[in-house]
Amino acid sequence: MTAVAAPIETSQLYIGGHWVDPHSADRLEVTNPATGELVGSVPLGDADDIDAAVRAARASFDSGVWSARPPAERAAVLRKAAQLIEERSAEICALVSAEMGATPGDVATLQQLAGTGVLNGYADASDAYDWEETRHGLFGETLVTREAVGVVGAIIAWNVPLFLICNKFGPALAAGCSVVLKPAPETPLNANLLAQLFTEAGVPEGVISVVPGGVEAGQALVDHPDVDKITFTGSTLAGKAIAARCGETLKRCSLELGGKSAAIVLDDADIAASAPMLVFTGILNSGQACVAQTRVLVPRSKKDEIVEAMTAVAASFVPGLPAEEGTTMGPIINAKQYEKVRGYIATGKAEGATAAYEMEVPEIGTGHFVGPVIFTDVTNDMTIAREEIFGPVISVIAYDDVDEAIAIANDSDYGLAGSVWTADVQRGVEIAKQVRTGTMGINWYAIDPASPFGGYKNSGIGRENGREGLESYLEHKAIILPMGYSSEQ
Ligand code: NAD
Repeated sequence: MTAVAAPIETSQLYIGGHWVDPHSADRLEVTNPATGELVGSVPLGDADDIDAAVRAARASFDSGVWSARPPAERAAVLRKAAQLIEERSAEICALVSAEMGATPGDVATLQQLAGTGVLNGYADASDAYDWEETRHGLFGETLVTREAVGVVGAIIAWNVPLFLICNKFGPALAAGCSVVLKPAPETPLNANLLAQLFTEAGVPEGVISVVPGGVEAGQALVDHPDVDKITFTGSTLAGKAIAARCGETLKRCSLELGGKSAAIVLDDADIAASAPMLVFTGILNSGQACVAQTRVLVPRSKKDEIVEAMTAVAASFVPGLPAEEGTTMGPIINAKQYEKVRGYIATGKAEGATAAYEMEVPEIGTGHFVGPVIFTDVTNDMTIAREEIFGPVISVIAYDDVDEAIAIANDSDYGLAGSVWTADVQRGVEIAKQVRTGTMGINWYAIDPASPFGGYKNSGIGRENGREGLESYLEHKAIILPMGYSSEQ
């Protein structure tokens, strides 16, 4: 298994495709969440570094070096970047694993495959896109063109950084934008590595920059007058603050936020076949997943059978050091998040839920491990059913009829993902249509790189992936041609 050999110490920032000195001497240290070992350190970017990166992005955008390139050439660069990531997958996945604590195998499937999938997906969407079309309107012909929105500020979370970087660089670059990425302070090292791979793939000078930092750097990016659009993936709380600040300068803004998704198990579902995926979609990435389906809605008559099947699956998870063979579950990212998850488990019990299964995890490394927890006797008004826990905690909620199940699924501030489990796929589709959420799976769940992904309600604004994802980085322009003019002459 590939490991991160020695701490990666970087003294400069990757701005516009070059390594440049940071404004301040402050540093950001990255420690392995499982072992406490130093993974590396980078300069802590501040508002001056953000300004330098935005200026590089603005100059490159206005020069047309990337924004004026034919879309097919930009798409080819994205495909090349995907290929380079695949070629260096073992090294990249080991680094991401060391930074955020998932096993390298989970990083490879949940982040690398998904990340290269969306890069190729955006390239395909760009190739299929009508970048220009002639419409026949009231006065005659109008030429409708699509142009890049401009300089993009991308701010991301730590939980799936490899995937998120591909899902920010991918559509922005396909559209012709220049991008300044502010990674989460927990996971800056892989961002530097990936940005270099995009440069190697052919992204020109000035077009991409990485400024590691915390909230201060993020706010400087949001407030910068030369940024045209903010794309944010993170918590609903921060998303609301960012959207409000974007309103001040009327920046375009898309938000991918939290979730509290529901898996609806119907009375005809194959319980033995469904249980592994039901548990996996609830606690993947140690539960640190926006799309985690942490509310499992079950017919009251089948509750005990389903909980028993899910318990057997949950008990098969093996928490351990992520780099060790056989580990299937890494630690929680840090002590603060660990305390928050433990707090939710205590609150669940205090509010009357029963822990039908709670794995005790022995001390492992210096990590903050929480084993799978399955709560029953949960009602949808309990805290554990309403708030995003971001830990491996599933709430099983019993329902009496399908209308009630749909009502429970919809009784949430969030609307990001969800699923229906049934022997009748068409019946599942009809129910999926009635749930106010951005993506639904039937008998499984996955994010499709070619199809829109995003949230209703407090789960966000806008869509990523496919044509819809590309369009959120574009402006639509109408050029009204003279009356009587025909482009076909
Ligand atoms: P967070 O909101 O605390 O931080 C996310 C990023 O925003 C970080 O880079 C942080 O430095 C920055 N930030 C925070 N406050 C800011 C502000 N006021 N202005 C500018 N930047 C700011 O979230 P987190 O704890 O890192 O991530 C977990 C959250 O992300 C969960 O809620 C999860 O559901 C969500 N998430 C959503 C998706 C999705 O696609 N919908 C994907 C992954 C994670």
